[in-house]
Amino acid sequence: MDAPVSPVTRATPDATFAATLFRTMGVDGVYGRSGLYENVVERLAALITEYRAPEAEILRLPPVMSRSDLERSGYLKSFPNLLGCVCALSGSDAEIMAAAQRHETGGDWTASLLPADLVLTPAACYPIYPMVATRGPVPAGGLLFDVACDCFRREPSRQLDRLQSFRMREYVRIGTADQIVGFRTRWIETGQAIAARLGLACQIAPANDPFFGREGRIKAISQVQQALKFELLVPIYGEDKPTACMSFNYHREHFGLTWDIHDTTGAPIHTGCAAFGMDRLAVAMFATHGLDTADWPADVRAALRL
Ligand code: AMP
Ligand code: ZN
Repeated sequence: MDAPVSPVTRATPDATFAATLFRTMGVDGVYGRSGLYENVVERLAALITEYRAPEAEILRLPPVMSRSDLERSGYLKSFPNLLGCVCALSGSDAEIMAAAQRHETGGDWTASLLPADLVLTPAACYPIYPMVATRGPVPAGGLLFDVACDCFRREPSRQLDRLQSFRMREYVRIGTADQIVGFRTRWIETGQAIAARLGLACQIAPANDPFFGREGRIKAISQVQQALKFELLVPIYGEDKPTACMSFNYHREHFGLTWDIHDTTGAPIHTGCAAFGMDRLAVAMFATHGLDTADWPADVRAALRL
């Protein structure tokens, strides 16, 4: 008799899986994280750091960013449905008190909220481009950043691979078209090498962002035709619908033109990024290898220094 083929995933992301790794906070897609889970997230982050080029500038970013910077980036044209905006009560003490007290009497205190100058950062690389724009021309060798950020996207879901609040790590490359394409090609290879060390079954596929609305469908088709986005997909909820755990993006000169960032010859710079969904990678690890890290394959434990 043939030996049984081992399944790609050992743990179904069901209620037990969720209760082991997360603590409910009353909202779909927003979870407290257990020590077991967080330890794996930290070790995944350390593994990604092993691949960081020495010249990379490291930035750890807060979960909020300038609203006007995100507006100028064009986010509202592409993903208005995903954006979260910080709102606050403002005005005199009496006005703020009156609004807050409405809540005590069953009224709606939120009717007095006004948008602040902050949005919840939807991807770790957005704050980098306006920062670079203040630094003058980009040097001939280009620039490289290592960024990480708690990101927010308004896409509530019960699935553990689609969170509203999740961690994103990115390597962001800024320079000429050739530099960005080379960077991205290398990272598509490296992403697969990392997945192999992690024992994750994966495939690389051309992808498009979930652009909003009817015009968005045209943007999505054009993005695929121009091969601007690739994703590393890992089965979490079944092999027929694998989950994007990393993405490799080429933005062409979009951010260079938007932020007026030039190279030393005056040409608009190109940008690209390799993005790691830290929470998706961690969930994929537990789905693939099971809930007990002591049972994970020895080479995977070694890669993570577990
Ligand atoms: P993207 O900018 O959409 O390519 O996102 C970069 C990476 O972040 C993706 O490849 C995912 O791994 C991760 N990611 C995006 N959206 C979510 C989400 N709603 N929940 C968890 N991880 C996400
Ligand atoms: Zn990015």
